[in-house]
Amino acid sequence: MAGLYFHIPYCHRACTYCDFHFSTSLRTKGPVLAAMQQELRMRITELEGAAPGSVYFGGGTPSLLSPEELGGLLHEARALANVRSDAEITVEANPDDITAERLAAWAELGITRVSLGIQSFREERLQWMNRSHNAAQSRRAIALVARAGLRSWTMDLIYGLPGMTLAEWDEQLSIALHHGVPHLSAYCLTVEPRTALHKQVADRRTLLPDDDEQARQFEHGIARLADAGLVQYEISNFGRHGHFAVHNTSYWTGAPYLGIGPSAHSFNGTRRRWNVANNARYVAGLAQGTPWWEEEVLTAAQRINERLLTGLRTMWGVELAGLGETFLRRNASAIAHYLALEELEQRDGRLLLTQKGRNFADRIASDLFMPPQ
Ligand code: SF4
Repeated sequence: MAGLYFHIPYCHRACTYCDFHFSTSLRTKGPVLAAMQQELRMRITELEGAAPGSVYFGGGTPSLLSPEELGGLLHEARALANVRSDAEITVEANPDDITAERLAAWAELGITRVSLGIQSFREERLQWMNRSHNAAQSRRAIALVARAGLRSWTMDLIYGLPGMTLAEWDEQLSIALHHGVPHLSAYCLTVEPRTALHKQVADRRTLLPDDDEQARQFEHGIARLADAGLVQYEISNFGRHGHFAVHNTSYWTGAPYLGIGPSAHSFNGTRRRWNVANNARYVAGLAQGTPWWEEEVLTAAQRINERLLTGLRTMWGVELAGLGETFLRRNASAIAHYLALEELEQRDGRLLLTQKGRNFADRIASDLFMPPQ
């Protein structure tokens, strides 16, 4: 099932740890949104007639757009592509943008799912992250979203914060579960280059928990959420049945998607394309017809490696037959090694990570990588 992604490259503030593409100045918003509509019109044929089963507004902070601006993009998508009537339509939102009126306007547009960037319920943490919202706004937003009658909703939380204890992480999960969250993404804080966090860590002004502590928090999250009936269907994603994210699952299962907007990525099964992560150059590229993207055609080995990297992170694993004879021959002893360690298991013709293996997902996947051709 195809997916359609819109990257909204604006945020209220720059969060300490964030390396996504965004601008805190809204000066270019009008031209960027117009260019996104133009890009959609020019590239819709890349979906080759496939009806999108999901539309995802990510960023950046899509919730800072007015409902009219969001609706303009969605209307164009529906006019150009045969967006399925049951499509999952998600908006990422910051808690400080959520009001009852805005949720009603989104429901009117056909938005089915809201993804709340909560990150932490503790005031001092939000300040350290330089988030634009406070803890009271989080709780208010959750209460409004939970009773808005959406098909689903989700929140992001971060663990592995400086000085975070298991007790603090447990408290965060308890608050989320108390609100009846049907889906939750739990991310370990990572230090990305060119972020304020990177500088703090390099200067030793910030010390992160060690790998063992992060692993303890990861495992505690899995256990806590499982007890509450949330299935870990991807390493960082937990949902009740019927609430798994359709759009993100299409990324992890290798389905095609079309990404519109600055820095957006697209994939059609063999070719990966990424737009320039610069708002002015994106607008100029569309205005002048000069390429605003780069692309690569994946080799057979790269396609296998991508399937491993994303597929092994899910509860469905990877279909062995789809990896090919050469892969199986080359990796027979490595697979046997991980089966013996009980970090991989083989079931119904698929290769899956065990609960133990989920701690080492990226290392196991890269050990099985095919060499470049
Ligand atoms: S709101 Fe999201 S995209 Fe924007 S700076 Fe913060 S983490 Fe990054």
